Amino acid sequence: MPRAFNFSAGPATLPEPVLRQAQEEMLDWHGVGASIVELSHRGPEFMGVAAEAEADLRKLIGVPDDYAVLFTQGGATAQQALIALNFADPGQPADYVISGHWGKTAIKQVKPYVDARIAASSESDGFRTIPDRATWTLSDDAAYVHITANETIHGVEFRDTPDVGAAPLFADFSSSIASEPIDISKYGLIYAGAQKNLGPVGISVVILRRDLLERAGQPRADIFDYRSQLKGESMLNTPPTWNWYLAGLVFKWMLAEGGVEEFARRNARKSALLYSVIDGSGGFYRNEVGPAVRSRMNVPFFLHDEALDKPFLKQASEAGLISLKGHRALGGMRASIYNAMPEEGVQALADFMQGFRKRHG
Ligand code: PMP
Repeated sequence: MPRAFNFSAGPATLPEPVLRQAQEEMLDWHGVGASIVELSHRGPEFMGVAAEAEADLRKLIGVPDDYAVLFTQGGATAQQALIALNFADPGQPADYVISGHWGKTAIKQVKPYVDARIAASSESDGFRTIPDRATWTLSDDAAYVHITANETIHGVEFRDTPDVGAAPLFADFSSSIASEPIDISKYGLIYAGAQKNLGPVGISVVILRRDLLERAGQPRADIFDYRSQLKGESMLNTPPTWNWYLAGLVFKWMLAEGGVEEFARRNARKSALLYSVIDGSGGFYRNEVGPAVRSRMNVPFFLHDEALDKPFLKQASEAGLISLKGHRALGGMRASIYNAMPEEGVQALADFMQGFRKRHG
């Protein structure tokens, strides 16, 4: 059975060569007579895997030397809470720009800890835009300003890094990290769950400017303390070694494919193709996000008649195109086209959408 083109939003499709390598190494990793996931995280084998993963990630996305990299558990959601505990005084203001569902989850996580303020929100227009920077209300004494670089459900993506003045900019890059070059030095901290562009679910990365660790933050257990995690090399407790190893293979694959510059070119072509099919469909398909902020990673779209949703999904799946159902918060369809989705997968979806329109239009 050939592999389907899988448009899942996350956990998402992984590069086939990575899955094959993991399969090959499953029973006997590099001749040690055991799988890497059966060995101690403190042993030389896994310590080597972990160090290489960090070095490769640094190279891949250009992490400056004065930034630390953490590999953590708890997903992106746990980081959404931990950033407040680590970097804001109790009750200190923290500014949030809300451009979709995940911005809302981010602010919800910090409500117990900070004076969480909405600096701007596009909720009133159904999250189809990003509020114009000139309209943001930023606090003088904010611990940080938080944005969601790419909204996975609403398909809205920042195309520039906003200038937020003195407070450090924190960004949730869960669904767009490594999809194009970014200037990390413009951010105080970025975080991402791995399960879209970096590897399997179960591990996240946090990249933060080291000087921020001098902040006192709030009373917290050691395990929730980024300083302690850094000192303990992200191994205060047993880390998710399998996930870390697989993410490391994905980093190597991305570097071998040409790095983030190459993925930026592919992602631009892939998303442009899908949006052109939608926009050129005479209203048969619809995406209502402002063209300047349409996501290159997640393309939500609606059919003109909801009654066609079921046949669309069924016929797509028969054509080897799976996981296209939209998030329950929005309905409709969503094609997630992260780095590991090949261009031929997007071409196959575009061809299918044109054919479906001819059959049902
Ligand atoms: N932020 C964004 C942008 C996401 O897409 C997701 C998951 N889809 C999350 C946060 C939550 O991530 P996790 O499930 O890893 O906590």
